[in-house]
Amino acid sequence: MLTWDEEVKPSLSKDMQQGLQQHHASTSGLPAGRPVDAPTSSIAQQPAATAAAQRVKASDKRIINGQTDVNQLVPFKYKWAWEKYLATCANHWMPQEVNMTRDIALWKDPNGLTEDERRIVKRNLGFFVTADSLAANNIVLGTYRHITAPECRQFLLRQAFEEAIHTHAYQYIVESLGLDESEIFNAYNEVPSIREKDQFLIPFIDAISDPLFKTGTHETDQTLLKSLIVFACLMEGLFFYVGFTQILALGRQNKMTGAAEQYQYILRDESMHCNFGIDLINQLKLENPGLWTPEFKAEIRALFMKAVELEYKYAEDTMPRGVLGMNASMFKGYLRYIANRRAQQIGLETLFPNEENPFPWMSEMIDLKKERNFFETRVIEYQSGGALSWD
Ligand code: FE
Repeated sequence: MLTWDEEVKPSLSKDMQQGLQQHHASTSGLPAGRPVDAPTSSIAQQPAATAAAQRVKASDKRIINGQTDVNQLVPFKYKWAWEKYLATCANHWMPQEVNMTRDIALWKDPNGLTEDERRIVKRNLGFFVTADSLAANNIVLGTYRHITAPECRQFLLRQAFEEAIHTHAYQYIVESLGLDESEIFNAYNEVPSIREKDQFLIPFIDAISDPLFKTGTHETDQTLLKSLIVFACLMEGLFFYVGFTQILALGRQNKMTGAAEQYQYILRDESMHCNFGIDLINQLKLENPGLWTPEFKAEIRALFMKAVELEYKYAEDTMPRGVLGMNASMFKGYLRYIANRRAQQIGLETLFPNEENPFPWMSEMIDLKKERNFFETRVIEYQSGGALSWD
């Protein structure tokens, strides 16, 4: 083993150089084992004009199967991805900044919440404590390596960290309330309405995180596109919404305001993830129009219908009776309304005609500006220091 005082031998730096070449080949979509900068064709040994010609041109960048160097963020082609990355960084927050004192007192008070309200909180955490880990693993082990646009990779890196913050937030609520960790963290194995949602998602993670999976054929490109649609439109864009609405409805009645505030920040992050995912899907479609076949669209529509059915089952399980001025059947309309919107956003026809939003206040929550702290549990400025204006 080397110590800090030892001189680094030339052979080590050569190995590292080779590693970089192999890394570049494996991350740029080029066939494995084909060194990009092999000594015989090194840029350094070529005339300046040829070297310049090999510099990254924005117009050569592609969302998938691109051949440009993924290590070079600029020149920008996908400005929308970079702007969304900046916007998410400006909304940085950490769970422990939210005061949970009132939630703890309410939870411990035997008359603080009804049994139905407690069921909602526990079921919610049961789904979400593992949901964001699934989302993070999907990005890190799956999506990331197949995306060849560095602006989009930059957003995905930030998104992966936000998924970690969300898992942290749910864990922080579980710990604050003194809930049975084993019960909550195992809910995705033990509660059928949660398990079914996860079982719907997992095959799409497995498909693209298989080490042997590679894009580059019609079939595998469609597999990746399907996975992107399932995650952006159906997981982050639909499966989160019964849970978010329930906890925010508690907060609107001045109950569990710390948890509600955490969910409010998470909802804002997730709606950005969903919007980024939709932009990514639409750009991928634009660059690869052959993927959007009638058969593929029919398959996606069937997945939307299945996801609405599963989320509705979850609504029924979490609300066996009316609670907080809501009931499961109101969610049938809400989920259909959201599914219509997601379908339209990716260029599919509306699935359920004439659905209206029964919870217009949820749109307000999503659009809430950082200046307005709805539940007033957090006293510090929401925007992170790095994004504040100093004049
Ligand atoms: Fe997310």
